Amino acid sequence: MTTDADLRDIVVRLAARVAASDENDAFRDAARATGSLPVYCDMGGCLVVSPDGDVLRFDPESGSTETETDPRWRLLARAKASRRYPELASLEPLRPEDAPECFECEGTGLLLGLDCKRCSGLGWVDNAQPEPERA
Ligand SMILES: [Zn+2]
Repeated sequence: MTTDADLRDIVVRLAARVAASDENDAFRDAARATGSLPVYCDMGGCLVVSPDGDVLRFDPESGSTETETDPRWRLLARAKASRRYPELASLEPLRPEDAPECFECEGTGLLLGLDCKRCSGLGWVDNAQPEPERA
């Protein structure tokens, strides 16, 4: 069982490790700028997990960080974080009982070795999504 305090410690520690690493420039820069843990970067910026478990989007062009509001990106970020870091297993999205297997990747979450775009690498599709989160 991971408490909120544990999660905070883990994310801060992992973010510091990424910020000090030269493995991936985009990840490193995002970690340094946000103090959060980068889990995915593309042309639109980097998705990072903040110490309180929120999913944010860092824009390296402007240096701004905003809460990611698209539920599919939030799902993808949580899936990636939980898969890459076993310590963050508590972030793994729960599969709803009625969520069907993804037909694109046949439930494996992978297409040609990359995360399946349709299901964000989960292997299942949440029919309830995308429903914008209500504040
Ligand atoms: Zn899929």
